[in-house]
Amino acid sequence: MSYKNFPMVPRVIFGRGCINQLNEILSPKRLNVKAPFIFIVDDVFKGKPSLTSKIPLSYEDRIIYVSAKEEPKTAQVDELVEHIILTTRESPSGIIGIGGGSILDLAKAVSIMLTNEGNTSDYQGWDLVKNPAIYHVGIPTISGTGAEISRTTVLTGPKLKLGINSDFTPFDQVILDPELTKNVPRTQWFYTGMDCYIHCIESLNGTYLNAFSQSYGEKAYDLCIEIFVDNELSLKDAQDKLMMASWHGGMSIAYSQVGVAHAMSYGLSFLLGTKHGIGNCIVFNQLGEFYPEGVKLFERMKKEHNIELPQGICANLSDAEFDIMINIALSLEPLWENAIGKDWRKSITREKLKSLYQKM
Ligand code: NAD
Ligand code: ZN
Repeated sequence: MSYKNFPMVPRVIFGRGCINQLNEILSPKRLNVKAPFIFIVDDVFKGKPSLTSKIPLSYEDRIIYVSAKEEPKTAQVDELVEHIILTTRESPSGIIGIGGGSILDLAKAVSIMLTNEGNTSDYQGWDLVKNPAIYHVGIPTISGTGAEISRTTVLTGPKLKLGINSDFTPFDQVILDPELTKNVPRTQWFYTGMDCYIHCIESLNGTYLNAFSQSYGEKAYDLCIEIFVDNELSLKDAQDKLMMASWHGGMSIAYSQVGVAHAMSYGLSFLLGTKHGIGNCIVFNQLGEFYPEGVKLFERMKKEHNIELPQGICANLSDAEFDIMINIALSLEPLWENAIGKDWRKSITREKLKSLYQKM
């Protein structure tokens, strides 16, 4: 047995309004006046001075707005890196991602690809990155994915939806300011929040569970119950707590693994472009046989928060299309092994997956 020696985010600041300390956090990291900080910012914040006024721009620093309507792609990372190389006089002092999981993942990937040769898709997998990334900072504006803490950046490439998992992927600094999440639309709040809930269910019910994962997973689970089931928190408390639930959920899966919902949701996302949060919900909704208690509670949360999930998204797919989703789902072997055990191939057949997809 060989244990993972897991890198953690070395610096984190938490608190409402803590983004105001961004300048004092970044200044000592500036290499020189020709080496800018590049802020990769979700374009929902374009023209919203309440956020953009907090971004301290000096010398040649700049903001690049990116849409989070679609999940990040390897080609998009390649383009951003090329753009940065062509338009900066020196290699940047740092990359700062401000947004949800999509933007945080882009920022991580760009910071890696600025110091590693070749195409982004060459590094999808486990421990393929050779050189340390440049200094990178994550500032989440929506809570749930755990992308702020994780060792991966999930990207869709020409052949795969797979992360760049490496010791160089985690952020050097994370800024947890729950106030930044205050304008998240209600349904998106639920979907991304459920990503955290599903991380907990998959981690706590997995065969890889250990005391490390359990301690974080149980805390994140309890916070999710307070936020989405008990419904007694003020809006501010709910924002604060969901930001910490996301962190703990991410820590929990870091040392275990996710499970069935994630494996199958990757298939939906690869073929249909279904986004992670809502895709996980659509899949999880059908997983009563794997996670009976977790799904029961999920039903209750859906009802209490008036969430109507899309139905019939796989209704008109061809056999070839089902095969594409099934191939992606089955390629995520550690997820299945965690969910079912070493013998997972006996019960997780192509037919089984097809029949589950057909219900979605
Ligand atoms: P997201 O980044 O996809 O954003 C969802 C929507 O919310 C977008 O429309 C965005 O513009 C909007 N939004 C974000 N913050 C907002 C705010 N403060 N106000 C108003 N609107 C706001 O959301 P997500 O669910 O956080 O991220 C999903 C992505 O994260 C997927 O690409 C998934 O693959 C990735 N992910 C990564 C990891 C990891 O460990 N690296 C883990 C889970 C998911
Ligand atoms: Zn997830």
